[in-house]
Amino acid sequence: MTRQPERDARDILSREIGFSRKPHGGRLRIALAFPNTYYVGMSNLGFQTVYRLFNEQEDVVCERVFLPGRQELQAQLASGRPLRTIESNTPVRNFDVFAFSVSFEWDYTNVVSMLRLAGMAPRADARTRHDPLVVIGGAVTFVNPEPLAAFAEVIAAGEAEALAPALAAAMRDADGRDDLLRRLAAERGFYVPSFYDVHYRPDGTIAAYEPKPGTGAPTVVQKAAIKSVERLDPPATTIFTPDTEFGSRFLIEVVRGCANLCRFCWAGYNYLPVRAFPADRILELARLARPHANRAGLVSIALCDHPEIERILRGLIDMGYSISPASLRLDDLTEPIVRMLHESGERSITIAPETGSDRLRRVINKTVTNAEILERAELIFASGLENLKLYYMIGLPTETDDDIDAIRELTAALRGILLAHSRTRGHLGRIVASVNPLIPKPGTTYQWLPMEDPVLT
Ligand code: SF4
Repeated sequence: MTRQPERDARDILSREIGFSRKPHGGRLRIALAFPNTYYVGMSNLGFQTVYRLFNEQEDVVCERVFLPGRQELQAQLASGRPLRTIESNTPVRNFDVFAFSVSFEWDYTNVVSMLRLAGMAPRADARTRHDPLVVIGGAVTFVNPEPLAAFAEVIAAGEAEALAPALAAAMRDADGRDDLLRRLAAERGFYVPSFYDVHYRPDGTIAAYEPKPGTGAPTVVQKAAIKSVERLDPPATTIFTPDTEFGSRFLIEVVRGCANLCRFCWAGYNYLPVRAFPADRILELARLARPHANRAGLVSIALCDHPEIERILRGLIDMGYSISPASLRLDDLTEPIVRMLHESGERSITIAPETGSDRLRRVINKTVTNAEILERAELIFASGLENLKLYYMIGLPTETDDDIDAIRELTAALRGILLAHSRTRGHLGRIVASVNPLIPKPGTTYQWLPMEDPVLT
């Protein structure tokens, strides 16, 4: 039997720690959507951070809304009942803003589904001023806002710490919807698609993209970024629930950005400059979260670039956390770091050689060599870590069959080191290698790289 949605929301809240509930009267009301299920969305650090940033403002009330699970979705569609928020069970259409935090391209269609479930027209040009303002942000709009532009009044491109307060301030000061859109278009990081005309060539490519006269919109919308994180709280889990993938984990961002600039890496290009969150604040937040989590998930693309990473790891271990790092950059993996990860109870580590040959690695601007990778593997397995996860890519420019063979050879060499250490330990570890095709991302050196032309091969 399908449960009632109101009941589900009450059950969800009864198992959560850290959610925010405020009276709506006199406040700017924001329904914040994650375009996937509760189980997926509540492990998303970006989503949790936007929720915190809005609710930190006294005159803003922000409530969450998720895509219903498959079973609930059928019941919801059958009943015609509109999409409602978790905290107060209020229909999304009653809010001032319907904001989406979109992290993954595969959730694009869920944005459209959620607009429909809310009882709103999916396309912005079919909605009225009485509908909530639809604002779409998150990592994907940072990469490329266009796929979702037709569905939003406003696209928020950039870092939430800059965008969330700016959106709330513009809503406070604006005199009506037109004035609001003009104010936002004048702010860095806000793109108002209806303020632009697009001209196409006969072959369908874009000939020109121009702001409409009188809108004041800039020709190029620049992403919003914060210059310094010294006074900022790092993004961290603020709502704990067992009903999500990383339910027992305290997630926290330690350092933002990566200076390596690998030619394919969207995150490297888009999160510059590298900014390290203050170690004392990271440890303070971890201490406060300790009653609710026994694992610390360190979310950063270049974790070991934090100048105080060893002090942070030691502090987390002393609090009794086991530490689960994201993929680690090989060039700054040191013996103390590996030793402390093992000491915390971690058994696996993830590294990204990307390819098997030094030549191709130089092409993509990743300077670590096979000799260094094998040397680090020795360090990893000697420390007691048992399992290694490897990320490889295929389809890179100038790749030959020899480069593909080199992936197999490097993996076999790593396995040799693993086996040698497993023998002395009397316990067999595991190597898991994943091989993914290159997907050229906007904003990187490879953004215009075409797919291989079958006519030429
Ligand atoms: S080292 Fe990793 S995070 Fe840094 S630019 Fe290269 S792929 Fe991106």
